[in-house]
Amino acid sequence: MNILSVTSEIYPLVKTGGLADVAGALPLALEALGIRTRSLVPGYPAVMKKLENPRERYVFEDLLGERATLVEAHHKGLDLLVLDCPGLYDRPGGPYLDPTGYDFQDNWKRFAALSFAGSEIAAGILDDFKPDLVHAHDWQAALTPVYMRYGRAHAVPSVVTVHNIAFQGQFGNDIFGQLRLPPHAFAMDGVEYYGDVGYLKGGLQSATAITTVSPSYAGEILQPSFGMGLEGVIAAREEQLSGIVNGIDVETWNPETDPMIAAPYGAATLKARALNREALCRHFQLDQDDGPIFTIISRLTWQKGMDLIPEVVDDLVRHGGKLAVLGSGDSALEGALLSASTRHRGRIGMTIGYNEPLSHLLQAGADAILVPSRFEPCGLTQLYALRYGCVPVVARTGGLADTVIDANHAALQGKCATGVQFSPISADGLRQAIHRTIRLYADKKLWTQIQKQGMKADVSWIRSAARYAELYSSLISRTA
Ligand code: ADP
Repeated sequence: MNILSVTSEIYPLVKTGGLADVAGALPLALEALGIRTRSLVPGYPAVMKKLENPRERYVFEDLLGERATLVEAHHKGLDLLVLDCPGLYDRPGGPYLDPTGYDFQDNWKRFAALSFAGSEIAAGILDDFKPDLVHAHDWQAALTPVYMRYGRAHAVPSVVTVHNIAFQGQFGNDIFGQLRLPPHAFAMDGVEYYGDVGYLKGGLQSATAITTVSPSYAGEILQPSFGMGLEGVIAAREEQLSGIVNGIDVETWNPETDPMIAAPYGAATLKARALNREALCRHFQLDQDDGPIFTIISRLTWQKGMDLIPEVVDDLVRHGGKLAVLGSGDSALEGALLSASTRHRGRIGMTIGYNEPLSHLLQAGADAILVPSRFEPCGLTQLYALRYGCVPVVARTGGLADTVIDANHAALQGKCATGVQFSPISADGLRQAIHRTIRLYADKKLWTQIQKQGMKADVSWIRSAARYAELYSSLISRTA
């Protein structure tokens, strides 16, 4: 089985969030099941400079008005097709934002071009790779099934995965004429969305199947409170919708071999975790006492419930807790957390920015991680935390609800608790959860048991990759 994955980010080449982790790990997990995936990604500078022995495979003379070269390369087990299009991707900034933090004005074109190239590959422009199915991730790739449907590759089945329905790729209708779609694609069952052009909306209408990244989130996005305007579109295609929880790359995230942490450890050698705890305290200038260390590794946004944190920190410290925060995002939230860290020197530490090695040390050294998201399609940080014996304290929503077993009385008795869940998702709900966590932490035997149960949880891709493989097979055999 040959799969073309179309994605705007892929770990370890370029990452802004969980999408990159999934796009980078799923192909490797599928390979073990005999499925070959090639990943089409934009040729951002960060990608181009990491390619070894790139091979030119195809030239688009006029890709929505741009000249582009499709380059084949291999990187850390991934088979890549990189869309080298300097006019669209060779510029300073991140994958989506310019250096001042604003969306690139031509994002509509940057990702339409990616999708168009994906549909051309599906149509067979490469003589040695004819995909049996195309898997498009998020709005940036969601026009791929649209171009396929209205173009040459309409017989090839496709899957759109929604990693976060909050990001929909909506643009003014003035761009429609430049997308080179037929006029009838600008309709309710196509890309038209309240008079504008909706990339994700078009993808949801056009893909053979829709997946999202946890069963709970699949149920939630059918509701107006989570669907963000697309609930009707999704409900109309409910039969084609499924939720498959993300796994993590258990090689990269393995506390027994992780080179980014201060000392390796495993479930049988949990005591060695203390060395990571000490390193963490040194980095964040936290007191080296026995109070529980909470961590946060997150985009600092409302979605992630980060505005609740300034409301609970004083109480957390009063109850003997400490907090180490790694994140960036909303500047008001950055400011509020920084001011908490100066108010509570030795108890709260803060590093602003994106720092992959430090995120590993935090998982290895902190006692518990706070994930108070208002909605969370799957969430990865709690999965890393489980694997690292860092007890997740999570809001009861989406993938958080599906992957953490709350330490309630029954789960403690049954020895299956792996963390703490809370609801309602409010400052008070979070405060209560922190109190409960601190109480659990005080009972060392119980705490170690919860840590070990979390470390035993299967967070690998094995089960989820098998579910994707099943889905792919059923779609391919249905359209054969
Ligand atoms: P989302 O994709 O919505 O941001 P996820 O929990 O699915 O949330 O994935 C976030 C990913 O980004 C995780 O791999 C997490 O460790 C990482 N991450 C988030 N913020 C930072 C940061 N400031 N530094 C390093 N890694 C971060």
